[in-house]
Amino acid sequence: MKEFWSSRIRDIVPYTPGEQPKDRTFIKLNTNENPYPPSPMALEYIRRATGPDLRLYPDPDGTSLRETLAAFNGLKPEQIFLGNGSDEVLAMCFPAFFEPDRPVVFADITYSFYPVYAKLYGQPYREIPLDEHFHLETEPYLGDNGGVILTNPNAPTGRAIPLHDIRAILEANPDVVVIVDEAYVDFGARSAREIIYAYPNLLVVRTMSKSRSLAGLRVGFAMGNANLIAALNCVKNSFNSYTLDRLALAGAEGAIHDVEYQRATLFKIMSTRSWTETVLRHLGFSVCESSANFLFVSHPDLPAKELQEGLRARGILVRWWDKPRIANYLRISIGTDSDMKALCQALTDLLTQAGISLEPMAQELLQ
Ligand SMILES: *Cc1c(COP(=O)(O)O)cnc(C)c1O
Repeated sequence: MKEFWSSRIRDIVPYTPGEQPKDRTFIKLNTNENPYPPSPMALEYIRRATGPDLRLYPDPDGTSLRETLAAFNGLKPEQIFLGNGSDEVLAMCFPAFFEPDRPVVFADITYSFYPVYAKLYGQPYREIPLDEHFHLETEPYLGDNGGVILTNPNAPTGRAIPLHDIRAILEANPDVVVIVDEAYVDFGARSAREIIYAYPNLLVVRTMSKSRSLAGLRVGFAMGNANLIAALNCVKNSFNSYTLDRLALAGAEGAIHDVEYQRATLFKIMSTRSWTETVLRHLGFSVCESSANFLFVSHPDLPAKELQEGLRARGILVRWWDKPRIANYLRISIGTDSDMKALCQALTDLLTQAGISLEPMAQELLQ
């Protein structure tokens, strides 16, 4: 029943976020949230913003937060754009930069929100297949494109794109905008931020949701040439002047200032990732090399869907997609050490139950 729905949205299949369970406490490894709380400084800034001033609108330009982000990233405030989560920033990029007569390109296996935005805006697009190991080949990106979206490191594979490949794509597409979605870059990939000065067509998009443990606050931002930022402001100010509320602006600023806390949580997550990767390999999984806070894994003897269901029954949520090429893969977010130990133990049980014999080494690592 889509009576009264505009023809623009009648055929859209919206993005499906990972499950946020309300009924019982799961170990949540399905939406790449950070297992550690936000920085105490972020919470302190939010507390200070909680008061009578909430009757007033927030700063529509988020000046203070933009100044802080600029200072920490070696840029000017006019090179920073803020959004209500990076999803909103990405959504605003479509009307800001792309033309309806030239298809935008992105990988066939990447963040599944891009094709949804494209359809919402009636923007034609072309998906470029990753190679059989899910590596991005630059060659197909060097043609005549209406715009490019790269995800570095990629989701859901976790693979990083080398900076020289990003440069090659920027240089081959000088007349269109190349967006690099760096949602997970802090977990081990090299940012394209350092080449913003060299490429007026480069837009780097970041989020506070993953590495800053602030998914609940909804803060994302973009960095690029002031001209690109002005285009995004034109879209934003034609849509909603106040996309970030006072608490979000304050909390994000506190988080950015807490350099030490950020360093410590990133270190913990990266070492937990490396432990988990080792155990999963000993359990017979193939694991994509990850520069993100998740692992993309597949087992030769047990279908991913069965593993996902088995884990769910044991109180652990992971992400599985019924999609071509990746239907036998699971994306597992990195939690705390004890979350990952529980995950590996549950996988060991599931494999044993299925009569799959395990390396003694796997058991030893779990002791
Ligand atoms: C999580 C994610 C986002 C969205 O982040 P928000 O800031 O929470 O909206 C964008 N891109 C990718 C690739 C992501 O994984």
